[in-house]
Amino acid sequence: MVSIKSIQLDSISNAKRIVLKVGSALIVNPKTGNINESWVKSLVQDIVFLLKNNKEILIVSSGAIALGKSELNLQNKSLKLSEKQAAAATGQILLAKAWKSKFEKVNIKCGQILVGHSDLETRRNAMNTRATLSTLLKLKVIPIINENDTVATREIRYGDNDQLAARIAQLAEADILVLLSDIDGLYSEDPKISPKAKFIKEIEDISSEIENMARNTKSNIASGGMITKIKAAKIATAGGCNLIIAHGKNKNSLLKLINGGKHSIFKANL
Ligand code: GLU
Repeated sequence: MVSIKSIQLDSISNAKRIVLKVGSALIVNPKTGNINESWVKSLVQDIVFLLKNNKEILIVSSGAIALGKSELNLQNKSLKLSEKQAAAATGQILLAKAWKSKFEKVNIKCGQILVGHSDLETRRNAMNTRATLSTLLKLKVIPIINENDTVATREIRYGDNDQLAARIAQLAEADILVLLSDIDGLYSEDPKISPKAKFIKEIEDISSEIENMARNTKSNIASGGMITKIKAAKIATAGGCNLIIAHGKNKNSLLKLINGGKHSIFKANL
């Protein structure tokens, strides 16, 4: 485990309420299609550290479809919406079980929230979702949130958890949203292709130039990519929440980030 010398990352050390989004490519082992147990365990260790430092944590966790696909032996097929929904129904149970079992070991309670587009975009439902989130936090329960993929229709779903996490961050009035990803931040072009790609550390304004950079950078995660991350950044920053993109594949990535690890930060519009 990483030793914690000092917290250098201003936004996380100053933040009280943090939304953490973990993508399928991190939580699910791509070779086996099963939960990446040791990775989840290490993330839970990092979360324990943050809780001890009086932070409130909400997790937006992907992985239901990826886990369900392997459970139902559907990995090597391109799936119809109804098959993806069947996979999500099967995988969501496994996902919740994985979080529950890891948090239980450190005496932390967690609760599952599955939301649809209308739960966050219709005022009355959104207020109710907000009340549930805030009650869970008051009761020291970590909300584990995902889209209710099993019943969402193609037209009215987020489809990617980057934007879902941004809406949750907005609704929960979080100070910071951390997107743990398979890329360590925003580059001027795809760093895997171009040696000239420039790393962008801080973004104050999401200009059309920034949006064009995102179009040129691919990330391998399930439904997201840099474009959905920029869309998420627009939602989060407009709601007064900072957004960080950081590499999350290695163990204890969150602690590394807290200790000044590489990341891009989109500053909240205050
Ligand atoms: N809700 C989807 C799942 O749990 C993930 C969407 C995404 O990858 O962003 O599988």
